Amino acid sequence: MEKHHKFSIWYVLLGIWVVLIIQSYIASMFAVQTIPYSQFLTLLKTGKIVEVAITANQIQGKMKVDGGTPDETKVFKTVRVDPELSTILDQYKVSFKGEIESTFLRDLFSWVFPIMLFVGVWYFFMKRMGAQQAGFMTIGKNKAKIYMENELNITFNDVAGVDEAKQELIEVVEFLKNPGRFTELGGKIPKGILLVGPPGTGKTLLAKAVAGESGVPFFSMSGSEFVEMFVGLGAARVRDLFVQAKEKAPCIIFIDELDALGKARGFGVTGGHDEREQTLNQLLVEMDGFDPKVGVILMAATNRPEILDPALLRPGRFDRHVLVDRPDKIGREEILKVHLKKIKTVPDLNVETIAGMTPGMVGADLANLVNEAALLAVRRNKKEVGMPEFEEAVERIIAGLEKKNRLINLKEREIVAYHEMGHALVALALPGTDPVQKISIIPRGIAALGYTMQVPTEDRFLMKKTELLNKIASLLGGRAAEEIVFGDISTGAHNDLARATDIAKSMIKEYGMSNKLGQVYLAREKRPQFLDAGIRDTGDYSEATAETIDEEIKSVITTEYTRAKDILHHQKDVLHRGARLLLEKEKLESADLTSLLESDTSRP
Ligand code: ADP
Ligand code: MG
Ligand code: ZN
Repeated sequence: MEKHHKFSIWYVLLGIWVVLIIQSYIASMFAVQTIPYSQFLTLLKTGKIVEVAITANQIQGKMKVDGGTPDETKVFKTVRVDPELSTILDQYKVSFKGEIESTFLRDLFSWVFPIMLFVGVWYFFMKRMGAQQAGFMTIGKNKAKIYMENELNITFNDVAGVDEAKQELIEVVEFLKNPGRFTELGGKIPKGILLVGPPGTGKTLLAKAVAGESGVPFFSMSGSEFVEMFVGLGAARVRDLFVQAKEKAPCIIFIDELDALGKARGFGVTGGHDEREQTLNQLLVEMDGFDPKVGVILMAATNRPEILDPALLRPGRFDRHVLVDRPDKIGREEILKVHLKKIKTVPDLNVETIAGMTPGMVGADLANLVNEAALLAVRRNKKEVGMPEFEEAVERIIAGLEKKNRLINLKEREIVAYHEMGHALVALALPGTDPVQKISIIPRGIAALGYTMQVPTEDRFLMKKTELLNKIASLLGGRAAEEIVFGDISTGAHNDLARATDIAKSMIKEYGMSNKLGQVYLAREKRPQFLDAGIRDTGDYSEATAETIDEEIKSVITTEYTRAKDILHHQKDVLHRGARLLLEKEKLESADLTSLLESDTSRP
């Protein structure tokens, strides 16, 4: 395909050349000698002119050739001059000739421009077509940057504070170093790895580290680079990228900011089949088409996994997800140490203190912080960067990030800490709730400011009524703690409320756990009917029952909320100490919680 289009422009050039040659040959055959008008008159008087054809401006004709046979003639042409003037000029023997105004500009406008326009349009379309068919000349060429191992001096040592993600990627490095061993054992090689995490947590850095560690070529391209210019170009780029990668295998293809390319399809304003969609389809085709055994590993990064097209996440595509989360305090300390190596600091710099001052910051913020501190030291003419510089840099960066709403302020952190502690303490106090494994106030995603992780000890098929009630109580524990400590409640609990209400609703409508309503099933599958008033839920119970259901749900929630508050009232001391510990450490494991509870003397 490509060859054909490359040739076609040469065909056209050759054609033009041939036409020019033919034209000049024809012109020479009918060679016309242009002579001055005065010479024409002389020739006329001496009887040399054989025949003439006269037009308004010129005279063309045949004349006898000097010294030739009488029959031999040649074609001449001359421009007519005003006949009267010519007689006078003739009298005085002045040589004179006529001249036709130059038509050069007119020719230019009437011929050259249309031709140029035509060629331009032709070229434009060829470009587009060519792009669609894997590149016309250099337009479809891939822009992927290829880094070789020696150019890319990044190793896992440069990435800190994201140990879990690092652990998962070590296997990938093993595979790339020795693909044969894996295939011999029949092991399943990951095809696509998706790094997911907030911006600046080091996703790009991790991908580069994988390449650096395994020492294979690294094709890096950003999702947005695929989507530009002409329709079809992105798809061509994808194809080209995979062709190149297969030649260089084993290697890594890394698509940064996958969301720019992999947004869910079908929402295009320009109709279903736009450029991005085509590119995405091509990527899916390529991913399905290659065998990981050749040693090409596809990695991608995104901070918005929720908007990705589900097709990208299916088995055989980006089926392994690696979470690159915000670092906790210890993680931040490690990241700071990596970046502090690059600058000169005072010997007794307390890195832990700096890590403690920077809650919520990610790797990129910390790198920025170290740089900022170094700049401040330069401005102050210091030889080494010290604590005062770091303190000021922290203040500056926090101010900047707060403006961007990326950091929660101290007061909010406090509320979150008490809220999470409330969940945990209620859960711990009630039998039959899942054990609390971890509490964290490191914000995750957009909605959750903190979380309490409860892991079920076994798979459950049956739940007792008391267990469900306890679960509701612990969900409400967050808000209860806020009310007890601050005398006010916040919006941070809406997800808890939703989940608690769902459980209560199921208890009453599906499980027959309401005393008032008894052992009835009231959640028959809704059959929406399109009546005149629109869709109506035709639940098979009366309005009165519906009211009772609402009352019962409310009553369950209220009772459990009171219970949660009671529990926390009795453990105010632990609540305060726990929240303070959480604020300090940002993350508490179950062991921390146990020792916290054991040291509690007020507990019954
Ligand atoms: P992302 O791709 O997740 O948005 P990057 O990998 O581009 O983040 O990180 C930007 C910069 O921040 C990196 O070049 C590095 O200097 C610094 N950085 C981010 N995360 C880390 C980390 N975990 N360890 C060390 N440095 C980090
Ligand atoms: Mg990135
Ligand atoms: Zn909560």
